[in-house]
Amino acid sequence: MLTNNLGYPRIGSNRELKKACEQYWSGKTTMAQLAQTGSEIRRKNWELQSEAGIDLIPSNDFSFYDQVLDWSLTVGAIPKRYHEVIMGKSNGELDLYFAMARGYQKDGLDITAMEMTKWFDTNYHYIVPEFVGDQQFKLFSTKILDEYNESKRLGIKTKPVIIGPITYLLLGKEKEADFDRIDLIKNLLPVYIDVLKKLEEQHVEWVQFDEPFLSLDLREKDRAAYTYAYSEIRKAFPKLKIMLATYFGSLKDNASLAVSLPVTALHIDLIRNPEQLESILAVLPDNVSLSVGVVDGRNIWKSEYQLALQLLEVSLSYIGNNRLIISPSCSLIHSPCDLDTEDDGTILTPLSPEIRQWLAFAKQKVNEVVELKQLLNNEKDILPKLDENIRCAENRRSSTLIHKTEVKKRVAGISQKDENRLNSFSVRKDAQHKALKLPQFPTTTIGSFPQTPEVRSWRSKYKKGDLTLAEYDALLEKETEETIRFQEACGIDVLVHGEFERNDMVEYFGEQLAGFAFTRNGWVQSYGSRCVKPPVIYGDVYRPTPMTVRWAEYAQSLSSKWVKGMLTGPVTILQWSFVRNDQPRSETCTQIALAIRDEVLDLENAGIRIIQIDEPAIREGLPLRKADWDGYLQWAVRAFRISASGVGDETQIHTHMCYSEFNDIIQNIADMDADVITIECSRSQMELLDAFADFKYPNEIGPGVYDIHSPRVPSKNEMVRLLEKARSVIPAGQLWVNPDCGLKTRHWHETKKALTEMVAAAKVLREYV
Ligand code: GLN
Ligand code: ZN
Repeated sequence: MLTNNLGYPRIGSNRELKKACEQYWSGKTTMAQLAQTGSEIRRKNWELQSEAGIDLIPSNDFSFYDQVLDWSLTVGAIPKRYHEVIMGKSNGELDLYFAMARGYQKDGLDITAMEMTKWFDTNYHYIVPEFVGDQQFKLFSTKILDEYNESKRLGIKTKPVIIGPITYLLLGKEKEADFDRIDLIKNLLPVYIDVLKKLEEQHVEWVQFDEPFLSLDLREKDRAAYTYAYSEIRKAFPKLKIMLATYFGSLKDNASLAVSLPVTALHIDLIRNPEQLESILAVLPDNVSLSVGVVDGRNIWKSEYQLALQLLEVSLSYIGNNRLIISPSCSLIHSPCDLDTEDDGTILTPLSPEIRQWLAFAKQKVNEVVELKQLLNNEKDILPKLDENIRCAENRRSSTLIHKTEVKKRVAGISQKDENRLNSFSVRKDAQHKALKLPQFPTTTIGSFPQTPEVRSWRSKYKKGDLTLAEYDALLEKETEETIRFQEACGIDVLVHGEFERNDMVEYFGEQLAGFAFTRNGWVQSYGSRCVKPPVIYGDVYRPTPMTVRWAEYAQSLSSKWVKGMLTGPVTILQWSFVRNDQPRSETCTQIALAIRDEVLDLENAGIRIIQIDEPAIREGLPLRKADWDGYLQWAVRAFRISASGVGDETQIHTHMCYSEFNDIIQNIADMDADVITIECSRSQMELLDAFADFKYPNEIGPGVYDIHSPRVPSKNEMVRLLEKARSVIPAGQLWVNPDCGLKTRHWHETKKALTEMVAAAKVLREYV
């Protein structure tokens, strides 16, 4: 029986990698210093896993930016536009690598970055490989070899992690028409063979091939490519121990394919899909081992040993000791590093001891894997660990911190009436037009205004106690008032207060809702050097007191124009948190929806007539398999409707979504029944609007007319052109004018210029009608 890990967080337990990368990028440190930080993190991670007793310790799971980008460099998939960087006099491979990740503006070159997108259904983002029709591959970077040798020198023999060839191709994108990237497998495979040969020369024993696409919907062609690729690899390396890693879902209709591949071990995710265990065991060939992922790699909850042991015992009964491998469900890069760092001796963790005992981060999860093996082996002295684990699980099941009868009753009592506005949009529309008296093409923004270093410094001073609440409030009031005055002067029709009191659109609400906890150091990599610290939803959620009314009321009191109330929607709050695993996500989402509904009603009572409920994360919550979409969309849309439907006809509900394609979920977006939806659109030159046009979307829409991710100020004419394009597919009476997203990352001077141009563009359009 072996213990195994699929990947360990590489950010460092105090985000050392983030700091080192950012200093290197800003030119404050040398490449050697950055490399040094990298190798220290790797050494610590390997030693930690080795001391814990992990048999199969991963290498090449480290990355300075992203493991998919690492692999593009390994196989030499370097888009043409970067070739000049290679020629240049830069720091060689590393600068090329960062140029691909972040773009390059130096030495007279101006090269855009590669695209980035979400890694399956996680909040991790990878750099999308770019392929052309005659794509050639060759071994370019030797990172995987270097890291393997590095671990060997430390006396730790690791298992290099490779992105499997089919998954690698499927993760990428065709940059030219008329070819299918999966057909590149013939060109790609020789590089894999090359890499493996070099690893074998260094006496590698195990290699891990990540193939998460095996738990997604595949075409017949992709399946054939799997069979072809792995039989070629096996032919070339008859003795190599290959672990084929699947995760984030069930193999389902790909199960027979997966067990037919000539590998040494198959890894399956039993946290997401414990039910797949017996069907896989039943068909697993006698010479294949099974790596069972029984420790949750994507969440922060301590394992329940009794549940894990049940799965392990079933596995044992089928395949015996020698073929069983115990693992986390997936790479641990999706969980924070180490719960022990919550208290650093000076600053205390905000976690209460009761909640803290329910949690496990990466380091603790590694220990869980080892303890499960010891329990299975009945090793002496291990039983107290089981008792402790059972006691903890029981405490969590019955904790009064978690369970609130009132909340459960309220969820059970939700009726049809609560999910529906009083009248249909056609009726509401007239009521709203009468009440709000907005011009054609009303202008608005998405909510946040620049979060300047001053605004952030006030918050941190207030948190440290260097500013009193009254002083902090006064500063925020001043900033809010100036923002209102600017919007009035600029001629915007529907104002916002600017969101200066918010650190983050989820954290701000989580901090005020019951059932949420926060960590001090629970950082997880989002992309590159960017890390997020998601709140922990541990218990039944409700809203003890109003959350935003104070600021909405204050802002509205300053102006005779309408000021929008700003809320984050239930699905987005859920999606960007660590969610409890003791009830379905839909249940937790419904509880949040009721809390937001309470807030919406309080805003309405306070005289706020336009309320925006942001749901930028609706699309990213979609399950990986199409067959599961309906189930998710049903409860997600219902949650939004519950949060929005309490108000009268005259109150206008807005929602906002960014980075989305809408084609395949347009019916569900229409079902949300927001009076107005604002969407990101400018980068696609309004193409995203076609989904709404084709569908004849009935409610009002604000297609973003300028990209807030860029410091570039767009001209009036540019925005007029985009609006004309929008008007050619959507009736004028339905259109709003607004930027793509919130302005919090922009500077004031850009923001002022861009919004002034935007209002001018709306005025041009009004002259036509
Ligand atoms: N209201 C939020 C803001 O303007 C919306 C952010 C988002 O869509 N991600 O910042
Ligand atoms: Zn947005």
